Amino acid sequence: MNRFVIMGPQGAGKGTQAAQLTTGLGIPHISTGDLFRVNTAAGTELGIRARAYIDNGKLVPDEVTQGMVVQRLGEPDAAKGFLFDGFPRNTAQAIWLAATLDKLQAPIDAVVLLVAPEPVLLQRMLVRGRGDDTVEAIATRLEIYRRETTPLVDYYGDRVVQVDGLGQVDEVAIRIRAALVSSGVVQGG
Ligand code: AMP
Repeated sequence: MNRFVIMGPQGAGKGTQAAQLTTGLGIPHISTGDLFRVNTAAGTELGIRARAYIDNGKLVPDEVTQGMVVQRLGEPDAAKGFLFDGFPRNTAQAIWLAATLDKLQAPIDAVVLLVAPEPVLLQRMLVRGRGDDTVEAIATRLEIYRRETTPLVDYYGDRVVQVDGLGQVDEVAIRIRAALVSSGVVQGG
């Protein structure tokens, strides 16, 4: 019971909460956005292929993203579990992930859905100031989230644990942990 996904719109605090949660659980935090940023900064072939999509707030093609994920899953630390942050982002990626994990007999145990009202999301993004946080890219990402990522809530069904992302970082972290404990996917204490 240590394979998780965290999802939610941009600005909901996924990255921050994912970092806290994975430290607490002793599992790797696998952020596809971070992996792409490492690759673009290093100028790898993958980074060069992904760059234009990222700058425009569009999804990098599934086969590129999935290739990167499969490589990350093959690293030894992923054997003890993981938390995906920013992946899967559409139904095709979720179906691919299920098939990949099926072979390892290691399904996703729970999906943390972090929610916050839209004005809060926009405010948080403006203070974040990332290179791809232009007005246009932000709008594109929100639109893609609504259209392509929200159907995953139905896809994962009763594995979804919804948590309110409003409040201080530590408060939200405690809320996530409590929600996972009460749904029986993480041990209390
Ligand atoms: P993030 O850090 O999660 O906001 O991701 C930054 C950017 O990386 C996104 O806007 C996409 O261009 C790309 N990206 C991250 N994860 C994925 C994914 N699962 N599928 C496709 N593109 C992704």
